[in-house]
Amino acid sequence: MIDPNGRQVDYLRISVTDRCNERCLYCLPENYSNWLPRAEVLNDAELLAVARAAVSLGFKKFRVTGGEPLVRPGVVGFIRELVALPGVESVQLTTNGTRLPELAQLLFDAGLRRINISLDALDADTYRTITSGDVAPVIQGIKLVKQIGFPSVKLNTVLMRGKNDGEILPLLNFAAEHDVAIRFIELMPVSLTEMLSEKNFLPVAEVFSLLKREDELEPMNEPLGFGPAKYFRLKQRGVTVGLIGALSDLHFCERCNKMRLTCDGKLRPCLGNHLETDLKPGLRPAIDEEKLRALFRGTLAEKPSEHLFRNNYQPQRVMTAIGG
Ligand code: SAM
Repeated sequence: MIDPNGRQVDYLRISVTDRCNERCLYCLPENYSNWLPRAEVLNDAELLAVARAAVSLGFKKFRVTGGEPLVRPGVVGFIRELVALPGVESVQLTTNGTRLPELAQLLFDAGLRRINISLDALDADTYRTITSGDVAPVIQGIKLVKQIGFPSVKLNTVLMRGKNDGEILPLLNFAAEHDVAIRFIELMPVSLTEMLSEKNFLPVAEVFSLLKREDELEPMNEPLGFGPAKYFRLKQRGVTVGLIGALSDLHFCERCNKMRLTCDGKLRPCLGNHLETDLKPGLRPAIDEEKLRALFRGTLAEKPSEHLFRNNYQPQRVMTAIGG
């Protein structure tokens, strides 16, 4: 599908749950309890109907996310069905990695090949401060997915000055040692706890300078994946690094190819905008693919040319509900 700004949109991020077993500072507000009632969350048949409608309109790439997707009961079966859907070319998963030790092999057997794992720190105390969780199973999960042979494994690190700036080099070395790519992501204003401010914002340009001091950088012409990251190869360490300048890169939205489905069936044309279309009229009481397609087309027609993150954007829905 081509949007009003001439961009080809063929990538759907599907949030399968708003629940999470961690509470990242920059994602969930403190004492958050506003979880969606179960009945509001789309079931597998409904999620797959949306995916089928998307495929019929030219979507080819899908990412399963959340909340934490691996806490959704039956998520492996859902991924198996999504991978097998005719016309689906790529299925990826974004996870905090905590459940990979038990699920990695099952996910591989279900046909998943591409996986992004969030890792904001290696140091156990820093990791706990940021996520409220335990880093050990995540590290175990990363080693396991490499051992199983997932061909695409990337780490995602959200940059926060004063919280994990000291972790950048250890994370780079860890990524090199385990032969995985790593992406550094600028903090976006989507939480009411670790609110984006001049104090905690760490621009990717600083990471770039650090990389230049520490290694020999080679820009990569071929993007690694389907997102907005700019990739470099660090020649000495032999590791691929992606920089996601969601705020500082003024060209960030120019090649945006995505739409997002929230787990309660809202289609969002842009992460940094409150626009959303309720797809439930095309799903309940019965699945109506023609209606779904019409709702998709209408949403695409509204896709903004760029996000509003630089304009004092205030989140109305937390990231777990939208699906980052
Ligand atoms: N629970 C999964 C995880 O932790 O990867 C998937 C959902 S999470 C919302 C998806 C991605 O969004 C993660 O890489 C996370 O670090 C990133 N993210 C969440 N809040 C963010 C923020 N305020 N700024 C930038 N990235 C953020």
